[in-house]
Amino acid sequence: MSSVPEILHTVFGFDHFRGVQEDVVDRVLAGRHTLAVMPTGAGKSLCYQLPAIAREGAALVISPLIALMHDQIRSADAIGLRAASLTSADADREQTVQRFKSGELDLLYIAPERATGEAFRRLISRTNLSLIAIDEAHCVSEWGHDFRPDYRLLKPLLDDNPDVPRLALTATADQRTRADILAQLGIPEEGLILAGFDRPNIRYHVRPRDGLNAQLKTLLAGQPGSGIVYAPSRDKSERIAEQLAGSGRPAVTYHAGLEAPIRARNQAAFVESEEMVIAATVAFGMGIDKPDVRFVAHAGIPKSIEAYYQETGRAGRDGEPAEAWLFWGAEDFARARSRIEQEVEPVRRPAERERLNALAAFVETPGCRRAVLLRHFGEDPPETCGNCDNCLDPPKTIDATEVARKLLSAAFRTEMRFGVAHLADVLAGNDNEKVRSFGHDRLSVFGIANSEELALVRPVARALIARDALRADAYGGLSFGPGAKPILKGEQELTITLPAPRKRTSRRRHEG
Ligand code: ADP
Ligand code: ZN
Repeated sequence: MSSVPEILHTVFGFDHFRGVQEDVVDRVLAGRHTLAVMPTGAGKSLCYQLPAIAREGAALVISPLIALMHDQIRSADAIGLRAASLTSADADREQTVQRFKSGELDLLYIAPERATGEAFRRLISRTNLSLIAIDEAHCVSEWGHDFRPDYRLLKPLLDDNPDVPRLALTATADQRTRADILAQLGIPEEGLILAGFDRPNIRYHVRPRDGLNAQLKTLLAGQPGSGIVYAPSRDKSERIAEQLAGSGRPAVTYHAGLEAPIRARNQAAFVESEEMVIAATVAFGMGIDKPDVRFVAHAGIPKSIEAYYQETGRAGRDGEPAEAWLFWGAEDFARARSRIEQEVEPVRRPAERERLNALAAFVETPGCRRAVLLRHFGEDPPETCGNCDNCLDPPKTIDATEVARKLLSAAFRTEMRFGVAHLADVLAGNDNEKVRSFGHDRLSVFGIANSEELALVRPVARALIARDALRADAYGGLSFGPGAKPILKGEQELTITLPAPRKRTSRRRHEG
């Protein structure tokens, strides 16, 4: 067999490895179990495809989605690798099994539930395996954002083949998920290889949502090139596309509710255009190859920091300057929190709450956004990056602990069922009809806030909701979350960034 550099060159057409690829390939070729955490686009496929060629036997690739497998097989085919899959969508399964048995395959793609079946385990006990790759390995972890119970069944199959190197691959794994993957798949700690997650050409901006249409309009006015606006619902994505089109920017919609031909047409138009905006739900983006996306805007909070990283990572793949904008509201957090408590299985709630808290810390930080993101992925970045809103234009922060205590007290005294407007009236001492009708003008908290404090009530409420010190019900009524007591008792302080409008930090202004 030819040498590794030769394979890299002749089969893949590359002169060099990229980033950690070489470390990963070396380890696998040495027969050692490995977990490679590499961001999207870092070139994970090569990490198992190259050893699959260089080592004797066929590589087993565990993958969660048929569409993903078929994509991978197409690109493997294109460079002359012998690859096939065993899925319900493959009519030629028997032929594939034959090819696998007789050593005619380099790569066999299979879903975890099929791989762990008796029949398949028996089949591979008689076959020479070069390696077992476990793609999207975060699916094995309950802490991961995409838990698939079938991944938990892989252990026996791996144990059957202790000498076959396993290579777990994922683009998104925080420290906890990583530890879980190592444990679940029997990979030693020293087998972890972590690629750098920084995307230095992406400039991050985070703003409270405050008239979204106007905010998007301002943003787009200073932002040439094509971009994605992620909307929290299908409806919203359509309304945003209409608004944008109305203001003269070519815009299309993409969500799972559109008929397939329309989706395909909109996607194709976007991929070809150099100025089009696609207003989409998160259904859009996977497998889209458009290197010159100049910005990604979120009209509401993403599901997690991992999701945010992945979604914003679709901007600036060409390495040219790109922007990521996030517009958030307290109601986004309120909705996400009530979803967790009502719809998520109880065992998964702690992980989901933690994910949301991490996201709250990201949107609320007065410090470097990039540093928060990179620390989340286990890196140790510099304190400032010089290319995010907070580094370019450091926000003023203020100790709002006293206002927070007053607001929490007002919520408590009014039996935790009123919204922020009413609580502000009570704190201000406005004895309007609603206040009087509930007798709230006789409460000890009536009129205890001065005008400076009153100006902070809304941003403080937003901050308290984001960090789960206050919870909003469907009508906006505020009650205590677990974060309330420590603040009331003086065990925890609340610092917020000042709500004053900040100057725009778009690249045009800075470089213009
Ligand atoms: P991932 O699965 O990590 O998102 P892929 O395996 O799809 O990434 O690779 C992303 C792109 O990078 C592909 O177009 C691939 O051909 C390219 N690529 C991978 N390795 C290299 C390399 N060593 N040199 C140049 N390009 C590479
Ligand atoms: Zn920064």
